[in-house]
Amino acid sequence: MRLPFTLLIDPVPADSLQQNFDDTFHEMESSAPALRVGELSTQRGDGIFETLAVVDGHPQEVEPHISRLRNSARICDLPVPNAEQWRAAIAYAALRIPQRGEIALKFVLSRGVEHGPAPTAWLYAVAAADFSGVRATGVRVVTLDRGYPRGVAEKAPWLLMGAKTLSYAVNMAAIREAHRRGADDTIFVTTDGYVMEGPTSSVVLRSNGSYVTPAPSGAILHGTTQQSMFDYLRGQGASVEYRDVTLDELRQADAAWLVSSVRLAVSVIALDSEPFPADQPVTEALNASLLARTA
Ligand code: PLP
Repeated sequence: MRLPFTLLIDPVPADSLQQNFDDTFHEMESSAPALRVGELSTQRGDGIFETLAVVDGHPQEVEPHISRLRNSARICDLPVPNAEQWRAAIAYAALRIPQRGEIALKFVLSRGVEHGPAPTAWLYAVAAADFSGVRATGVRVVTLDRGYPRGVAEKAPWLLMGAKTLSYAVNMAAIREAHRRGADDTIFVTTDGYVMEGPTSSVVLRSNGSYVTPAPSGAILHGTTQQSMFDYLRGQGASVEYRDVTLDELRQADAAWLVSSVRLAVSVIALDSEPFPADQPVTEALNASLLARTA
């Protein structure tokens, strides 16, 4: 029961009939060297990852995360991950980390080392930062041009827009730009004025009585938290929609949220330096339902 917890994984092919994977898992001391210098994940950011939350011992939304990892692998021409092996690795880790509190569990599939071994994979669990404050107070957001028009994923699939790759330098730069502009976070927009996503979150707004998120077109990720949020809202009888959202519609929305696996739902309280209406009771109800998930 310790953190950080590190597990190196020997990936098996997607069609392997293997059922017990324990001999493919290697627990590591988290401070010990574990990757080769020639790793393409570190040399080129060439790999994919997922981060899920483990709350009081329960890994959240394992299947949507594994299925997005498999989708990212397809987009990046990486060997498709064996879903059974990843399920087993997450379950293996979940039994060996503290059973109380919020934990961020990241799992990575890298193209590996140029002349082998390839691919390489690992899983890493750390205590989650305390997001209770930001869940209560919300975030100030600036919109930033992502530099691409709507439809870029279809026109230029080699940009890997819909894959959750390790190349997050642009996403981190966008957050630093938000800080320079006196805000906490960012919403990316296309050059032709459509809302995309945050650098580490999905965007949901409430507009004309309906909860709306930009359709996961291939240029943005299909957020697992946004899907849970829509399940909860549907259960409450609310209307939910996937569709294009213009920046003008976002500006006129009566509430908006950034949602992601570990921070969960945070209200947007300012947009491009203008105060923005927040619905804190809905945010609290959403986070209570997200934290109560047992799978
Ligand atoms: N979009 C991007 C670019 C992200 O990095 C993330 C999460 O890290 C999300 C959306 C939200 O995805 P999820 O709710 O599955 O964490």
